[in-house]
Amino acid sequence: MRTPSPPPPPPPPQQQQQQNQNHHQQQNHQQQNHQQPKKRINSLRLKETEHVEFIRKSSRDTETIEYALTEHLRLSGMYWGLTAAALLRRTNEITSKDEVVQFINECYDEKSSLFAGAPGHDGHVLYTLSAIQIFVLYDCLREELSVQRAKKMCEAIAKLQNKEDGSFAGDEWGEVDTRFSYCAFSALSLLTHGMGEECFLDWNLESLELQRGEKEENTVKIYNGRALEIMRKIVDIDKGCEFIMNCRNFDGGFGSTPGGESHAGQIFVCVGALQICNQLDLLYAGEEDNEDNDKLAWWLAERQVKVGGLNGRPEKLPDVCYSWWVLSSLAALKKKHWIDLDKLKTFILRCQDDINGGISDRPDDEPDVYHTFFGIAGLSLMKHEGLEEIDPIYALPVTSVRKIGIESDWY
Ligand SMILES: [Zn+2]
Repeated sequence: MRTPSPPPPPPPPQQQQQQNQNHHQQQNHQQQNHQQPKKRINSLRLKETEHVEFIRKSSRDTETIEYALTEHLRLSGMYWGLTAAALLRRTNEITSKDEVVQFINECYDEKSSLFAGAPGHDGHVLYTLSAIQIFVLYDCLREELSVQRAKKMCEAIAKLQNKEDGSFAGDEWGEVDTRFSYCAFSALSLLTHGMGEECFLDWNLESLELQRGEKEENTVKIYNGRALEIMRKIVDIDKGCEFIMNCRNFDGGFGSTPGGESHAGQIFVCVGALQICNQLDLLYAGEEDNEDNDKLAWWLAERQVKVGGLNGRPEKLPDVCYSWWVLSSLAALKKKHWIDLDKLKTFILRCQDDINGGISDRPDDEPDVYHTFFGIAGLSLMKHEGLEEIDPIYALPVTSVRKIGIESDWY
């Protein structure tokens, strides 16, 4: 379906071209290849082939300064690129699965029993989640992760939790952030679903016997429940959710730690963590169950600015990555329709580099893999034609999480 031309404030095509020309007249001759108008508002079509090529090149071009600067998060970069390609249904065009798996295994840090952002670095819960997400994307978690390593990872994640307040640190150095709570819960949920309960059989799971009889009725639903019960044996889920609720602010949003300013990225991780732990109703505890009363959804919906894009906090510029952080949170709250989706689609498509592929934070900026992924993920949440549907909590294609038994009703 073609996106209709947006009303002002996005300028009409002619005016936009004029702006591009003015902009390019100011460029020096070294940037000649950028001089042609590369983002025309009348070509608002998702540039699938160009994006795949951009992702492929970005993963290969090890000579660039960007590559060197982002080495520490190479594994997350791989997850962004591969998941974007999977949403475009073209993962095979990026690289081979064997190459990916080999790289992930090189990133494993024996000392911490977690994955690092790149080989030789220290393990961290952020990259551990990226590694698990890629295994799930390729549907090879059980093939590629030994039972022994999976258990060690679970224990390592458990060690990151502060038993007093329920918070999670990202690594042994101890920085605390609600992002790490989400990473811990998401990683554990994907692991317990994906590895299967036999992986955890000697972990004293007899209390789960009760549910076994019900299994035939609705395998997926019960299995979801069982995975959560297994998680309960590894970490303190209730304390973990309590910490998250302690990071909630009067405006309905969440910060990185108690008292921290509300921010869309932190809201995504907090809503996601509560959802994974099946405790989303904590959001409404003590409030009337009334749509207008939903302060959090209001805060999120107010992130849309005139040009259609979303910002991460009040008074900030729109940025493509917030298409994901805000919209996925609204999706989990079943309130995607509270923002103007057509305008948001137009904003994301305007941030494409029509010639070289890739999506940038704002129109006419340099694209990168991070914004390319979050732009495509945002479009997928809006059911853009031709894209795989993405799960708003696990940030993986719905088809991938279904394969490991995660069936949700939040799309
Ligand atoms: Zn951004």
